[in-house]
Amino acid sequence: MSTDTLPKEQLHQKLLSALDDAVVDYSDTSQKPLEITLDHPLPPKVRVYMYNVTSPEGDRPDDEYKAQLIAPGQDSDERGSFDFSDDWLVLLIGYEQYDEVFVLWDGYLHPNFSFSKTVYVKQWAIRKAVRGELGEQTRNLQTGEEVVITANSENLNEAIRLRTSLSSSSLPEGTEAAGVSNPDPEKKATDYNIPDKRTSEITRKIRNTIIVNNLKQRYNYRCQVCGDRRKQSRENYYAEGHHLKPLSEGGPDDIRNIIILCPNHHADFDFGMVKVDPNSLEIDHYYEDKKREIELRPGHEINPGFLEYNNAHIAEF
Ligand SMILES: [Zn+2]
Repeated sequence: MSTDTLPKEQLHQKLLSALDDAVVDYSDTSQKPLEITLDHPLPPKVRVYMYNVTSPEGDRPDDEYKAQLIAPGQDSDERGSFDFSDDWLVLLIGYEQYDEVFVLWDGYLHPNFSFSKTVYVKQWAIRKAVRGELGEQTRNLQTGEEVVITANSENLNEAIRLRTSLSSSSLPEGTEAAGVSNPDPEKKATDYNIPDKRTSEITRKIRNTIIVNNLKQRYNYRCQVCGDRRKQSRENYYAEGHHLKPLSEGGPDDIRNIIILCPNHHADFDFGMVKVDPNSLEIDHYYEDKKREIELRPGHEINPGFLEYNNAHIAEF
């Protein structure tokens, strides 16, 4: 545990070197915010507010990291705001120097804040980034639901594209930020080009995230095998989406190929410990004796072909 922080110039350098070839031009790194012109397919103009992310300290549950927001020039008795003007995409990025992880909050959900406002990210999301995956943590804020994205330097480009797609992209209704000279609520972050929609891996991931999140909500985060519901924080539930025919084996991103599971039953499916009768949906579990069926909620069908695929190619018994 340490409270050492990097000066903003170094934070900016970390970001620029992770973005590498994607950077076309950038503003003075000794000044905040850092304005970067990025190469296609990243959003062309981003205005970045960077903060140090520090490890847990006594006052919060010790599984949360945090960053403290202070706007450039903001005094301790003032409220602060990012500069959302001129169609630049505002990015609120934290950097955790020991694990070398970037954390992307949704700047549009933090339009106006008190001095030294703290934003949080869970330790599991940091760890996920360390393992080379994109972490996504959902937080409920007064201004809306925020998806916090974590990434290592290898995945930063991908994280920015996911951020662009998931950002609220316009300020929440009823809030005003200083420095908004020409806010355009019609302009969505998704207006920024993401090319090759059908083939692009990142587009697929974004789409998959949206499909799976909708389905999780339909099941109220309950496992379709056991009905259990886990939590990822005091307020937020946790479940996982499973593709019956894996994407890597040509399975589609389609709810007829996806079921919602608790982490245990997800592992069981991945390890081939579960078969499902395609007609009756009766579950044949390798080492659990309970008689049960896959629960289906209205509006969700499973394609029997994908269950057959699971039974023939994934199941190990
Ligand atoms: Zn379960």
